[in-house]
This record gives sequence, C-alpha cells and structure tokens, in this order.
Amino acid sequence: MSAAGAAGLGAKVALIERNLLGGDCLNVGCVPSKGVIRAARAAHEARNGASLESRFPAKRRLTFPPRWRACADSARGSASTIPSSASPSFGVDVFIGNGRFVGPSAIDVDDRPLKFDRAVIATGARAAEPPISGLRDAGFYTNETIFTLTELPRRLAVIGAGPLGCELAQCFQRLGSRVTLITDGAAILPREDRDAAQIVHRQMEKDGVRIIAGATFNTRK
Ligand SMILES: Cc1cc2nc3c(=O)[nH]c(=O)nc-3n(C[C@H](O)[C@H](O)[C@H](O)COP(=O)(O)OP(=O)(O)OC[C@H]3O[C@@H](n4cnc5c(N)ncnc54)[C@H](O)[C@@H]3O)c2cc1C
Repeated sequence: MSAAGAAGLGAKVALIERNLLGGDCLNVGCVPSKGVIRAARAAHEARNGASLESRFPAKRRLTFPPRWRACADSARGSASTIPSSASPSFGVDVFIGNGRFVGPSAIDVDDRPLKFDRAVIATGARAAEPPISGLRDAGFYTNETIFTLTELPRRLAVIGAGPLGCELAQCFQRLGSRVTLITDGAAILPREDRDAAQIVHRQMEKDGVRIIAGATFNTRK
C-alpha cells in the first residue's frame, strides 16, 4: 500500500520482499481466512438455515461434513486473483530477496546494492509461540500453516481468543471439527465492547465451540 501510494505520488519506488508479495494479509491472513469463513458460513446455513425450514425437514438438511480440502484450496486460490500493490500497473520496481540495511541510505537485497532517499519499513509480524510447556513437543499450527492442512482435524484446540482465534475457532467448528477455544484472559475478545463480545461468545457456544476462559498454563522454564 505504501509502495503503490508513493508511486502514485510520482516517487521512484523499489519494493523489497523476501517471501510472497502481498504479505500475511493476502497469503496467510485476511484473504484465506475470510474464504474459509465464507465456506463455514455456507455449511452452517445449509445445516441450520431458517429459510430452509419450510422446504426441507431437519433430517434432509446438510448432515455430511463439507470437504475441507476444497474449502482451503478455494480460499487460497482466491488470494491469487487479487492484484498485489506490486503489480507493474502501479509503477513499482519489485526486488525479491532479503533486505538488509548497510548504511543510512543504502540497502542490500541479497547482496544487490540499492540506494534510497527515504525508506519505509513495513516488515510485519509473526505468530508468537507462547511458552507453554509441552506445546513444542505436541506440535502446533499458526496462521502460516493452518490453511495448508490437508484434512479437517477431528478435534482442535485454539489458544488465544482475540479476533483471529475466535474466527478460526468458529469456522473450524462449523466445518465439522470439535473446537475448544482457550484463553488466559477473563473473557474472549478482551479489547472489544463487552456486550458485543458476549454476543459472539453466545453464538460460538451455540455453534458448539467449548470456551475455556481464565485458563492457567504451565510455562516452560
Ligand atoms: C488469520 C488472520 C486473519 C486476518 N484477518 C484480517 C482482517 O480480516 N482484516 C484486517 O484488517 N487484518 C486482518 N489480519 C491482519 C493482517 O493480515 C495484517 O495486519 C497485515 O498483513 C499487516 O500487513 P503488513 O504489510 O504490515 O505486514 P505483513 O503482511 O506481515 O508483510 C510484511 C512483509 O515483509 C516481508 N519481510 C520481512 N522482513 C523482510 C526483509 N528483511 N526483507 C524483505 N522482506 C521482508 C515479509 O516476508 C512479509 O511479506 C489478519 C491476520 C491473520 C493472521
């Protein structure tokens, strides 16, 4: 977004990326998660939709689990159809490689030197591994790996009940996993309005998500 904006204002822009253009949002965040949520909502409506009541008796409604692989593939496929701000039409020069500052107005991209007048650092964030004992041995997924699952897990524990934890918990439950959402906070969505968080809490319980708040974890030394 910064690159496209600066190019739009007439700057000569070099965009440096060491992994996939589009960052988390396009590849392992907003876009795939919203695609999976859409599939989960469709499954939920097919099971419970009030609009179906008059046409189908309960026993004729969706009783089979939706195909996880198809949901995930379609969610990731939709990401590839969204143009990145680095597309040539934005007038940005793209350099694929690891960027490393080597001076006040110089950066190396995998040893290729570039000079700049101004630099924007937008290197994002990574999922933090909580220091819970046993977690590393048990193995876990993050947003970088969850959308590459080849099968829907039968049971899934989601640690963290912010917006991302809640949306993942609800959509996996609606797709057919048995989900337990665990937080050490007093309630889910701690930064949101309490009344709004309560509505989400009630809906998730109605969907079948088991919510454990106020959890204490044994921490790794
Ligand atoms: C599951 C999930 C769902 C989300 N849903 C939403 C949503 O619905 N709405 C919303 O607004 N936000 C959502 N987000 C948050 C959103 O994805 C992030 O806020 C956004 O991606 C941050 O963008 P960014 O450009 O700051 O960083 P990033 O997307 O992390 O991009 C940083 C880029 O910098 C690259 N990089 C890092 N270091 C270097 C280096 N030295 N050299 C070269 N390249 C480097 C990385 O490879 C990466 O591609 C979601 C996130 C997740 C995980």
